[in-house]
Amino acid sequence: MDAVGTDSDGREFKNAEEMWREEVGVADPSKKSNWYTEGVGYWQGVEATVDGVLGGYGQVNEPDIKGSEEFLNSLLAERFLDAGGGGNLVVLDCGSGIGRVTKNLLIRYFNEIDLLEPVSHFLDAARINLAPENLMVTEEHKAVNFYCVPLQEFTPDAQRYDVVWVQWCIGHLSDEDFISFFKRAKSGLKPGGFFVLKENVARQGFVLDKQDKSVTRSDLYFRQLFNQCGLHICKMKDQKGFPNGLFAVKMYALAPELPKKVYKSKSKRQVNRPGIIK
Ligand code: SAH
Repeated sequence: MDAVGTDSDGREFKNAEEMWREEVGVADPSKKSNWYTEGVGYWQGVEATVDGVLGGYGQVNEPDIKGSEEFLNSLLAERFLDAGGGGNLVVLDCGSGIGRVTKNLLIRYFNEIDLLEPVSHFLDAARINLAPENLMVTEEHKAVNFYCVPLQEFTPDAQRYDVVWVQWCIGHLSDEDFISFFKRAKSGLKPGGFFVLKENVARQGFVLDKQDKSVTRSDLYFRQLFNQCGLHICKMKDQKGFPNGLFAVKMYALAPELPKKVYKSKSKRQVNRPGIIK
């Protein structure tokens, strides 16, 4: 990403490479591990509530879920139900926090939900929030696995998921780990499966948050990374109804690249057909 970026103190970086070199280093495992320890450390000090995981903007929960539900509905209709799919739908909620997205949305659409969250007191809260007696769904809808690991260390079981939902956590990953996470996670998708990435977007370049060690990337920055992951955007939507002063939020549905079109050599018929002279 060539565009300039800033950090939360207003400092300017020439480009993302300069920022990442300073923050995670180049082939420097201890520097990189500090970045992740500080990121998780920030969240370890946050209370396990909706307000906590939403950075003090609990009022965003409702429009967020509404926007996500519309987006998910259109995708499920196009990609699974119309295609005769459906059946036992399985989703992975990445950086799930206290299970807010699962509890308010995913549990109603999916039969099995796995949650991945590196902060143990959030995951403990998620276990309680998603206990069957605290849910308003039938027993065909349940949270199954609770993984206390960060995204950069996670490899899913092969072809387990219809959808991998990644909301408000990918900013914690360096570009390198972003790309290797999505590459690994592709093998966790069932045929026809897809990712939903819902994230804050910077107007240009990137913004480094020095407090929680995360980076808000621009739409262009994301697109360059998707390319490197071998993912294409099947659908994209802007989140509406958030208070002014917050970052814009986009929802991307991403799927592994379609196989490259194979152009067959000309058939005999084509070869013999007289050409049209214009
Ligand atoms: N997606 C949830 C939580 C958002 S808060 C929601 O929308 O409600 C951001 C979450 O990212 C926190 O739960 C935090 O612990 C998690 N997180 C931080 N670093 C992470 C990492 N490296 N991998 C996965 N999740 C991470």
